[in-house]
Amino acid sequence: MTKLPNIAIDGPAASGKTTVARLLASRLGLVYLDTGAMYRAVTFQALKQGLDLADEVALEKLSCGMSLDLQPDPDSASGHRLLVDGVDITAELHSPEVSQAVPRVASVPGVRRDMVRRQRKKSEQGGVIMAGRDIGTVVIPEARLKFYLDADLLERARRRQADLLSEGREYSREEVSDQLRERDDIDSSRNDSPLRVAEDAEWLDCTSMSAEEVVELVVARFLESRG
Ligand code: C5P
Repeated sequence: MTKLPNIAIDGPAASGKTTVARLLASRLGLVYLDTGAMYRAVTFQALKQGLDLADEVALEKLSCGMSLDLQPDPDSASGHRLLVDGVDITAELHSPEVSQAVPRVASVPGVRRDMVRRQRKKSEQGGVIMAGRDIGTVVIPEARLKFYLDADLLERARRRQADLLSEGREYSREEVSDQLRERDDIDSSRNDSPLRVAEDAEWLDCTSMSAEEVVELVVARFLESRG
């Protein structure tokens, strides 16, 4: 049987990757993998254990020793549940503490090696939609379809602020936009696999596009690519 294609979706924080990837997965019958959740899981465990985030050896060891189980769950906001060593930590992944610390943990080369190895393994069977920062450049550069979702910082902040409010967390637009900018700066300037547009990715400005419009466009490319 021929393998289904993999789809790579990269882009800065709050550019709509999760929403789009989830909708695409159910529309095309593909498996969605949120790689940000994996980096967040390592970060949550590191904070819980009180590790020094400057200790790269300890962070790599933590990452390599963790059992990470991402299970699809259409009822949860993220589209999946994440179990670490059998414990469901989904609700902890988007706390302000984790969001602030995650770019530091994600810039550790040993952590990235471990995460990329796990992600590549998931992509081997084909039919995976992976969302992240280095999917088209590093994790599955051979993916048949690659997209880079972008949007103006203010629009991304507006969307993230609404998401946070629906979780009962109240922040000003300015605070949210500062947090997003800081995270993007660290993610784009790190030495190991920084956030950037893959040469063969299609760059989409989603500032004034709805998630459904982005999905329609990707579905059209998917059908074209299958002939
Ligand atoms: O996508 P999300 O915002 O949940 O990602 C959280 C963080 O995880 C990013 O800001 C980045 O530091 C890291 N990340 C990464 N590479 C990926 C996915 C996420 O470095 N492929």
